[in-house]
Amino acid sequence: MKRVAKTIAAALAVGVMGVAAGAYAQEFPGGKPISAVVPFSAGGPTDKVSRELTAIMSKHLGSTIVIENLGGAGGTIGAKKVAQAKNDGHTVLIHHIGMATAPALYRNLGFDPLKDFEMVGEIADVPMILVGNKQLPPNTFKELLPYIKANAAKLSLANAGIGSASHLCGLLFQSAIQTELTTVPYKGAAPALTDILGGQVNLLCDQTTNLAGHLKAHSVKPYAAMQAKRVEAFKDVPTAAEQGMPNVEVKVWHAMYAPKGTPKPVIDKLSAALQKAVADPAFRAKMAELGAEAVPAQRATPESLRTYLSAEINKWTPVIKKAGVYAD
Ligand code: ASP
Repeated sequence: MKRVAKTIAAALAVGVMGVAAGAYAQEFPGGKPISAVVPFSAGGPTDKVSRELTAIMSKHLGSTIVIENLGGAGGTIGAKKVAQAKNDGHTVLIHHIGMATAPALYRNLGFDPLKDFEMVGEIADVPMILVGNKQLPPNTFKELLPYIKANAAKLSLANAGIGSASHLCGLLFQSAIQTELTTVPYKGAAPALTDILGGQVNLLCDQTTNLAGHLKAHSVKPYAAMQAKRVEAFKDVPTAAEQGMPNVEVKVWHAMYAPKGTPKPVIDKLSAALQKAVADPAFRAKMAELGAEAVPAQRATPESLRTYLSAEINKWTPVIKKAGVYAD
């Protein structure tokens, strides 16, 4: 009899919890702000995509989304914070390709990108361009390569930390030219670019979302687009492949995540708002202006992101292992 009573009580408790979770999800976000952790500095490429996106998502969700910039260690500090955050939908992560490269780069990462997060969906793809500061003598990629060979000891290559997109792009570039440069890590591409402009560092492989204004103002020297085709918005910059260096290609895809265990109806609401935002003509136009491309709405879903993240981990892990690079 006692056991029956206990079973009934347990079943009721589960039922009550289910109802409570359902009611919570129905009300979510209930006017309460959502914190979106951007694991890089303010004003940088991930920050720019995130601010454009969340301004639109906020309207659809009826709650403010507050960006929290938490740069450092190539995005892994911010990602770890979200993995450990309360899973009520009020904390999300906006991260990029670094989610797929970090497991190979960090032996003690402290989180598992596939197991410790709920997927919300993909956001936008951003191309990269290798740039140098104006003081560098070479004007073209063809001139840059022999110049690097002759001056490798005194040239520096900036990046946004180990595990960042600029780090990955820099790795591929150094491997292609078979020359190691002194790398200088920053907490994001925003401070890295500031030092390129100031002449403190020489080269940076950066996202067009960060470079757009400077490319138009000719305040940096663009050497090569690091993708198969020229970037639509910056058609005058030839690709590395066109200039004799194939396979140095990095597409910086961005996506949104929530801590593991965030209730499915809450994820569905976040994802629905994300799908509306990526389909919004203003968002798509802004991305295009910055050289980027908002994903189609069907990629802004948990299923699409899970498949893509797994494929990207499988793609980059052997490349990084072969390069023998570790962050820790
Ligand atoms: N996405 C980084 C940032 O926003 C830069 C990078 O990964 O290279 O600063």
